[in-house]
Amino acid sequence: MKNFEPQEIVVESGSEQSSIYKNLKRAFPNVPFAFTDQLWGKDSPTASRDVFGDGKRKLLLARHRGEFLKKCPGSDGQVCCNYFVINFASNCPMECSYCYLQEYLADNPALKVFSNIEDLLGEADALLGRHRKFFFRIGTGEITDSLALDPYIGFCAEVVPFFAEQPNVLLELKTKSDCVDGLVQLDPKERVVVSWSMNPEKVIDADEHDTASFGERLVAARRCQAGGYKLGFHFDPIVEYPGWEEDYREMVERIFAAVDHRRIAWISLGVLRTTPGLKRVMRSRFPLSRLPTGEQILCPDGKLRYFQPLRVDIYRKMLRWIRAASPIVFVYLCMESKEVWEQVFGFAPSCEKELGSRLANFGF
Ligand code: SF4
Repeated sequence: MKNFEPQEIVVESGSEQSSIYKNLKRAFPNVPFAFTDQLWGKDSPTASRDVFGDGKRKLLLARHRGEFLKKCPGSDGQVCCNYFVINFASNCPMECSYCYLQEYLADNPALKVFSNIEDLLGEADALLGRHRKFFFRIGTGEITDSLALDPYIGFCAEVVPFFAEQPNVLLELKTKSDCVDGLVQLDPKERVVVSWSMNPEKVIDADEHDTASFGERLVAARRCQAGGYKLGFHFDPIVEYPGWEEDYREMVERIFAAVDHRRIAWISLGVLRTTPGLKRVMRSRFPLSRLPTGEQILCPDGKLRYFQPLRVDIYRKMLRWIRAASPIVFVYLCMESKEVWEQVFGFAPSCEKELGSRLANFGF
């Protein structure tokens, strides 16, 4: 995957005491650092035609105000999996053409990394301690990639040892990178799942720019498995195109040939989702991408998806290929309706707590 090097790093006064600042200084000896009391929100308007893309090359290190831990918002009317998210950064150094952050963080002028990890850990400690009988799944890959920045900021070394000692949590680190050098030096003590969003090489080449190749992700998954981590795979977004069946079946077979299926905590399936606004951004930022040209219909949650019969057909085929390789691995659908669940699996979870606890049980 492509190495990340920002053009400048802006540090909010006070954040220079943090371990992340020290790691950034070590990682980027040739990048200029600036210090400020004034945060990005007060910047003057820019003439750039790609504020979002430019923002990926400016790194801002600042304290996070407000809560780090939030319940995943899910999507209206879709079956939710009762997941919590920690936002340790916002935006991502990689460039997927379909990335929803292009709409969600459209005017974000910088890639933000938060310096007050001690507050994050304090919050997590309080939540987990208050509800010891509840098993939490917490992820860090909601508005950034969990690992792509790790070689530069050393976030995992700060948080994995904490979560490894907790009796009632699984921390999920979700990525399209192969940045696992820091992770494999730590002992996850069965409390950390490292998961990869996977697509065939053809989709990665066309629409997942600057990410690790399929082969690099697989090597990284094997290294994590050898290091004691559980694995997860997210076949999401699945893209339909002429010949997709052959590519996706081969991808599933290659993954199961490379890793021990008994160490896979979960696999999710989800088709390409966009919105009218995101499609506009995709056409302007990635004019060569074919993804915005396919037919999609507007669903009750405001997202565009393939027609339901096509989605069901895709999920059934994926499930068949997965089951041929592993009859036991836990598979679920991401952001899909109860009707689709029923057609694919013959049942739908009765509520988010049911799906969440099934996932937690499989993960443990
Ligand atoms: S890796 Fe994830 S967060 Fe980063 S650009 Fe791709 S979709 Fe967006």
